[in-house]
Amino acid sequence: MSEKSRVYLDHAATTPVRPEVRAEINRMYESFYGNPSTFYEEGHEVADMLAQARADIAGVINADPSEIYFTSCGTESDNWALKGTAFARQKEGKHIITTKIEHHAILHTVEWLDKQGFEATYLDVDADGLVDPEDLKAALRDDTIIVSIMMANNEVGTIEPIKELAAITHTNSRAYFHCDAVQALGAIPIDVQDLGVDMMSFSGHKLYGPKGVGVMYLRRGKRVDNLLHGGAQERMRRGGTENIPLIVGFAKAAVLAKEEMPEESKRQIVMRDWLIQEISKRIPYCKLNGHPTKRLPNNVNFSFEFIEGESMLLLLDAEGYACSSGSACTSASLDPSHVLLAMGLPHEIAHGSLRITLGKDNTQEQLEGFVTSLENIVARLREMSPLWSDFQEGRIKAALINK
Ligand code: PLP
Repeated sequence: MSEKSRVYLDHAATTPVRPEVRAEINRMYESFYGNPSTFYEEGHEVADMLAQARADIAGVINADPSEIYFTSCGTESDNWALKGTAFARQKEGKHIITTKIEHHAILHTVEWLDKQGFEATYLDVDADGLVDPEDLKAALRDDTIIVSIMMANNEVGTIEPIKELAAITHTNSRAYFHCDAVQALGAIPIDVQDLGVDMMSFSGHKLYGPKGVGVMYLRRGKRVDNLLHGGAQERMRRGGTENIPLIVGFAKAAVLAKEEMPEESKRQIVMRDWLIQEISKRIPYCKLNGHPTKRLPNNVNFSFEFIEGESMLLLLDAEGYACSSGSACTSASLDPSHVLLAMGLPHEIAHGSLRITLGKDNTQEQLEGFVTSLENIVARLREMSPLWSDFQEGRIKAALINK
């Protein structure tokens, strides 16, 4: 199928590399191959570019350049924050707090630490996906060494009250506060000083930058063990020759995303809210997942009763639309989303979910075509569903009543 006939609506999974970033990366591959740790011109010129990229990323989140560490992806940053803190601080305590709705880069790392003798508490969320600050306060202990709570959820888009949660952590414990902001960078403002976080994870490919590059923000003075041991790169904190083209590309993408954010987020919020309204109006027995207003500008997530999410995805794909039933990493599995289950959705409703995440190249016209296709697909699938006929013939009741 030609690219023209496709409509990409899965920007939470990944984004296309924008032309300005591609140009920057290509320029690097064509002309600058030096190793920044070497002491001659080829090395010095890329060392300068690395320093500039570090300063650019620091500027985007109001950090000091010395607090920015380049990694290979958001997953590495999350692993480093958790394992690095756990092993550096294990004499002070072994208790870790996180939430039930984190990305698997956090959840599976915490599960692994649990097996190594650390102890984890998983905070609940409410029906909109919000963490209750009082729950965090109650869970903090003398031996809590790290709290990790995401800024914006990758499935339902709910934005957590990070400033308040970090303040509660610091007032009531000695724990570090880590925040997975992979979905938030480039979408909503991030100021590490204002938020009061100790560590933050970012990834290049969610904001029209390249895949395979991430950042860890680590507040000066905070102690974490290295995850990767090797050379003296990243001020002795992360061995491995720096991937300068991708780092420079990430920095370019982050600077552009920040510049464009005021206009672009306004535009996306209008499209997002139109889509939410239109789906609720035109398709019966559905429900918006995630907070109605404290949500990412580009995120729409719905459950449709009497439907399997996977079949919906296949039919939408056949009509040219790329969406997701949850996070990209779990969409290959048939388990319902752990995020929707944590928000209290029953299994059968969680199974019929669809995530639509808008991007800077989507248009209102595309969304109009999309809603019409979705409306028809939901009707077609319901016609084939035995549950739908049970419902039509009055043998079962609907759980989701929107019209
Ligand atoms: N954290 C969140 C919230 C994410 O959405 C993702 C990717 O989907 C990651 C972490 C992992 O990032 P990466 O793909 O760069 O490893």
